[in-house]
Amino acid sequence: MTPTLGQTILDHASALARFSDMEDGLTCAFLTPAHRATQAQLVKWMEDAGMQVRIDAIGNVIGRYAADPAVTEPKVLMTGSHFDTVRNGGRYDGRLGILLPIVVVHALNVAGIRLPYHFDIVGFAEEEGLRFKTSFLASSVLAGRFDEALLDREDADGITMRDALGAAAFPGAADPAALRAAAVDPATLAGFVEVHIEQGPVLLNRGLPLGIVTQIAGSSRFQVRVEGLASHAGTTPMDMRRDAATGAAEMTLLVESRCAQVPTLVGTVGQLQVPNGSSNVIPGACVFSMDIRAGEDGIREAAIADILAGIQSIAARRGLTATVDRVTPVNNAPCARWLMDQLGAVLKKRGLEAFELPSGAGHDAMMMQRITDVAMLFVRCGNGGISHNPLETITAEDAQLAAETFVDFLRHFRADRTN
Ligand SMILES: [Zn+2]
Repeated sequence: MTPTLGQTILDHASALARFSDMEDGLTCAFLTPAHRATQAQLVKWMEDAGMQVRIDAIGNVIGRYAADPAVTEPKVLMTGSHFDTVRNGGRYDGRLGILLPIVVVHALNVAGIRLPYHFDIVGFAEEEGLRFKTSFLASSVLAGRFDEALLDREDADGITMRDALGAAAFPGAADPAALRAAAVDPATLAGFVEVHIEQGPVLLNRGLPLGIVTQIAGSSRFQVRVEGLASHAGTTPMDMRRDAATGAAEMTLLVESRCAQVPTLVGTVGQLQVPNGSSNVIPGACVFSMDIRAGEDGIREAAIADILAGIQSIAARRGLTATVDRVTPVNNAPCARWLMDQLGAVLKKRGLEAFELPSGAGHDAMMMQRITDVAMLFVRCGNGGISHNPLETITAEDAQLAAETFVDFLRHFRADRTN
């Protein structure tokens, strides 16, 4: 008996998870041997599914299921997600959005069904930012927004992105002109639809297998450096200290309390360090990260203004200085109603609720939204909704339902945004 589409998706995800930068767990950082092996496997599966496959200058794997030859000047409907991971991540984050459409195309091809448009699946080579501490590298190339200054950026071992790309030797790798030429012409696109594991508990708690994303929350990230005065832990009275770490602690609590005021707003201090600290010295410096997101840019910006002002007043009261560096903000990306409605229609036809929810996590669709209309189909995340973790999971039944829904969507898809 042939396995179901859902089971095949899970089996493929398990097979890919064996390519890892670490021994016991899944880490797949940009351009490592495990990443290259994953890329090669995706090429093979796409070819087996009846697609024409190429690798672009940043390492994206792009497969095309060519349109019915009877259709003149077909548009391109694009789907895809990333195949890199966070450190010790889950096997479905990103990969589900590549494997599901591959399995779907394989089934269409076996059944001899052609579509009235080119259907392109992109395995995005980099989204998580693990190796070079900058995310959306792959989608920024396709969207024509790659920052060439990043080629000089070094990983933890001092290898530049230019050298890493050069060693990978894809056609045009590390050549800025080739990276520019790899951008997609927006005029050819009908839209971009990404399938992704939800990475949260909303669908699970509602008992729903699938959901339609309304918008992808924008995020703003900062690095904050607090300076005080390092002095002796035994001889400096409590009221004479300028402790950078306790100042940073108060700032962290401010992020928490301010972001708790609005339901769609979230704020996180994920890194907090006392550089060269020691147990018997009052911290003279403390550095921490801040990540602030909201479904609406205005809500996020208002929170940021309050937090930045609060950080300065906490610093002043404690005799500290605080320097804040803003990492490039990513604006909120709304999904296109006409695409959401087409997804909703196929869900309803199957007797499922067309439940809509925002995405708090960033996705490749966020960058693609800069050049075309986008939509996202979320698949229920098991184990309480945990993600970026080896415990991340989905069921074969949900994968099957998502695949069948995606087949319906593709067969009914009309590149007509006025319907
Ligand atoms: Zn992802």
